[in-house]
Amino acid sequence: MKYPKMGTRQLYLLEERIKTFKNWPFDEKSRCNIRNMAEAGFYSVATSTEDVDATKCFLCGKELDGWESFDDPWAEHRSHAAKCAFVQIGKNEDELSFSEFLSIVKQYMINEVNQIGGQQKEIIDEKLKAIKRKYRGRK
Ligand SMILES: [Zn+2]
Repeated sequence: MKYPKMGTRQLYLLEERIKTFKNWPFDEKSRCNIRNMAEAGFYSVATSTEDVDATKCFLCGKELDGWESFDDPWAEHRSHAAKCAFVQIGKNEDELSFSEFLSIVKQYMINEVNQIGGQQKEIIDEKLKAIKRKYRGRK
C-alpha cells in the first residue's frame, strides 16, 4: 500500500510554482505568461499535450484551463475563486508581509493534512469493505 508523502512539494513558493510550467503555450509577452500565472497562485497540472494549459491554485485547489494570452491570471483567479485566501490577500510574493506569508503556508499545510486525512479515510473504508465481504453472513 502506498501512503502519500507530506511536504514533497512546496507550492506556496513562487519559484516552485514556476518550475511546474514545462510546455506552457504562452510567451513572455502574454499577460498570462508563466511568471504572472505563478504569481497569481497557479501551477501547471498538465499531463500531456492535450491539456498543456491546465492549471491549479496551490491554495484553494481551483482548476482552470482554456487560457487566452490576454487573460489576467489574478482577475481570473478572483472571478472563479473569490473566497480563496490567496486571492483575498491578493499580493505577489515579494509584497507579502512575513505574517501574511506564514498564514498562507499554514493554510497550505492544513489543506495538505486534510487531503492526506481524506486519503487515509478512503484506505480505511476499503479495508472495512474487504472485512465486511470476508465476514458476510456472520452474525
Ligand atoms: Zn486560489
